[in-house]
Amino acid sequence: MTKLIVSKFGGTSMGDAECMLRSAEVSQRQGSGLIAVSATSGTTNELILLGKTAESKTWEETEKILSKIREKHVKIAQDLKLSAESSKKIETLFEEMNSLAKGIHYLRDCSVKAMDTLMSLGERMSSVLFTEAMSQVLKKHGSTKSAELFDVRQVLRTNDDFGKAKPNTAEVAALCQKYLGSVRDQKKVFVTQGYIGMTEDGFTTTLGRGGSDYSAAILAEGVAADVLEIWTDVAGIATTDPRICPQAKPISEISFKEASELATFGAKVLHPATLLPAIRKNIPVFVGSSFDSEAKGTWVRKDVDQHPLIRAMALRKNQVLVTLSTPEMLHAHGFLFQLFKVFNDHKVSIDAITTSEISVSVTLDDSTLLNKKLIADLSQFADVQVEEKLTLISLIGNNINHTAGLAKKIFDSISDINVRMICLGASKHNFCFLVAEDQATAAIQKLHKSFIE
Ligand code: ASP
Ligand code: MG
Repeated sequence: MTKLIVSKFGGTSMGDAECMLRSAEVSQRQGSGLIAVSATSGTTNELILLGKTAESKTWEETEKILSKIREKHVKIAQDLKLSAESSKKIETLFEEMNSLAKGIHYLRDCSVKAMDTLMSLGERMSSVLFTEAMSQVLKKHGSTKSAELFDVRQVLRTNDDFGKAKPNTAEVAALCQKYLGSVRDQKKVFVTQGYIGMTEDGFTTTLGRGGSDYSAAILAEGVAADVLEIWTDVAGIATTDPRICPQAKPISEISFKEASELATFGAKVLHPATLLPAIRKNIPVFVGSSFDSEAKGTWVRKDVDQHPLIRAMALRKNQVLVTLSTPEMLHAHGFLFQLFKVFNDHKVSIDAITTSEISVSVTLDDSTLLNKKLIADLSQFADVQVEEKLTLISLIGNNINHTAGLAKKIFDSISDINVRMICLGASKHNFCFLVAEDQATAAIQKLHKSFIE
């Protein structure tokens, strides 16, 4: 039986008609059965600007953005010589965009819920265009398959956490059975939208910025795909971000465990949560470039052939270190519980933690500090100190907590850089520490040199 492949193409792969045709060629060659696409590059940002402008500025200003978005899509439609049927679909979406902007403008109110519907237009427009590109490419290759546009909201059931909705896995699987069962026959190529979903009550949601990868993984799980392919503009995951370190090399394979630890992937290739559905169902993930599909790309899977001590390194900027201390923690129980309950109540995610007898330090994204109530709530239990402008550096590999001399080698390579906090021991696959923001690039370059080059 032929493999069922779910593919995702990002915004740059949808950039213009040429990009779309190139991406369609990749899908055709690979034999994708279900393709989830992002909005054309920049469109999601433009739609957000549209919503904000409609809410708080003049209608003239709003119209300017409307026509910019419209023109960009009309150009692609013209270049692709869109069929009458697809043209009509695009026109309907333009009308919806116009009406939504008008509604927001009259009400002077762009709620997150309204914003989600507005943003969904990006993926809904690009998927109409890409279906056309896919049809043309299938025809060109004399394929017996046909491309069919599929509204992902029929299957991607989420909760009503607008702007960051959570998919309901069990329901997605049941709905995929019902509406996408024929994907197994491989007679059609389904083209659908990344990033968007729908609540039980029929309201459109989005999964959070950059969420198309996640959509594709959820769909791969839902249809029990054999492979998930993520096509982007870089040829896979690199040993580190090539913009920071030009010596970065592509990684041919990485295990699920290492990849999950690589919280912010080398060149930001993957949305961190993307892998969860694939891990759950043990679906191998391929990450490649639609611009250079001959390049090797990276396989992310459960079992890998090589287990290097250090495979990759990443940095996460804009971190703060929050240290909470109180003598009450001495020999006491339940103290961490109380503190973490505060983080939980504020829905704040903690990345790294270290503790001493009377204090605990946690790293957070600096945006969490905008929430003044969080610090106030923490202050009820402990003395709170905040250090800003930090970067978290993670080294990802294997057997990290069982290798003699590793820490020495790491700190010898960056002996001139002050390390503010270290986290080691919880994982075989990750060693991370904090450094000052302005020393982070140098730290990565030095570490890359001693471990990878
Ligand atoms: N179009 C959405 C965004 O720009 C989702 C995605 O591209 O993954 O965030
Ligand atoms: Mg994107």
